[in-house]
Amino acid sequence: MRPFSYVRTSDADAAARAVGANPQAKFLAGGTNLLDLMKEDVERPTQLVDVSRLKLTEIRPARGGVSIGALATNTETANNPLIRTSYPLLTQAIVAGASGQIRNMATNGGNLLQRTRCQYFYDVAMPCNKRAPGTGCGALEGLNRIHAILGYSDKCVATYPGDMANALYALDAVVRVRGANGSERTIPIDDFHRLPGNTPETDTTLKHGELIVAIELPKSSFAKHSYYLKVRDRASYAFALVAVAAALDLNGGTIRTARVVLGGVAHKPWRSREAEAALAGKPASEASFRRAAEAALEDAKPLSHNAYKVELAKRAIVRALSRASRLA
Ligand SMILES: Cc1cc2nc3c(=O)[nH]c(=O)nc-3n(C[C@H](O)[C@H](O)[C@H](O)COP(=O)(O)OP(=O)(O)OC[C@H]3O[C@@H](n4cnc5c(N)ncnc54)[C@H](O)[C@@H]3O)c2cc1C
Ligand code: SF4
Repeated sequence: MRPFSYVRTSDADAAARAVGANPQAKFLAGGTNLLDLMKEDVERPTQLVDVSRLKLTEIRPARGGVSIGALATNTETANNPLIRTSYPLLTQAIVAGASGQIRNMATNGGNLLQRTRCQYFYDVAMPCNKRAPGTGCGALEGLNRIHAILGYSDKCVATYPGDMANALYALDAVVRVRGANGSERTIPIDDFHRLPGNTPETDTTLKHGELIVAIELPKSSFAKHSYYLKVRDRASYAFALVAVAAALDLNGGTIRTARVVLGGVAHKPWRSREAEAALAGKPASEASFRRAAEAALEDAKPLSHNAYKVELAKRAIVRALSRASRLA
């Protein structure tokens, strides 16, 4: 591990100022991703600004929905009674991720910003445009079984590995951030993570020094009919090969609106507006779910080792929607 300085700040403004003043500084929350990356020499911050004790842990009703503190742990968030009853999709997605011990340390802000699990990204001896821009993409012609089938570029075919964010996309979350000058802004979750394009080194639209302070969810009409399905290589903790956050607003047996968000298939959680359009106004039936699955994967372009993800994703969508509608 390379030398770095460590400071702990007393409030959010001081933390944002400290990171904003040093281009090589990073916030430290639970440390479950950042410290691993530092030990692997992938991340090389010269300063860590510890935000883990900031009082940004509250989960409270707000504007008809809920405001979730960025420093609340994944465990606290998943177990919160308001989340469990009004946003069960979020609870399901969080508990599908990592292990109990990791969720006890992991914070919501850090979870959103976790980095890809592409094996070439972690191996500093290999080319990787995300870790070292301009060196090439080891996975493009290499081992790409776990990589993207949608929205990638020839610069990077990595996937976003998180589970929680897939539910947040389905629930129309907004990310509240505080900048180094004390000002706050909100970022709709759809605009938070980026597709790789020509600059895969940049994962999100967050600016350097901006601290996530909260995640806000509007009132949801999906509490009764939602389901998070995660398909992985083993039952114990592992990242998703394919995940589906499915949510339905039903009027009797007819779908008013739907949300279909795929994890494990793209550089960001992949909200399929094609699938959602195919479901709106249709009966909640297996035939509708199959049509939605076909629409979601129509533009998929598998790489040499991951064609299996296309059929897997289709089947996962049908199953998740069936569970959400309680057909299965
Ligand atoms: C073995 C293992 C298995 C895992 N499996 C899964 C899984 O199946 N599904 C899943 O979703 N996740 C999984 N994870 C990832 C885990 O969920 C993340 O590591 C965790 O959520 C990161 O949160 P943290 O608070 O520890 O972040 P940190 O490691 O402290 O920080 C991560 C990044 O976020 C930045 N950051 C942190 N907080 C803020 C903030 N408030 N504002 C701005 N920037 C901030 C940091 O600077 C850093 O860049 C796994 C992790 C491990 C180690
Ligand atoms: S897929 Fe992205 S993260 Fe993986 S090697 Fe290529 S550039 Fe790096």
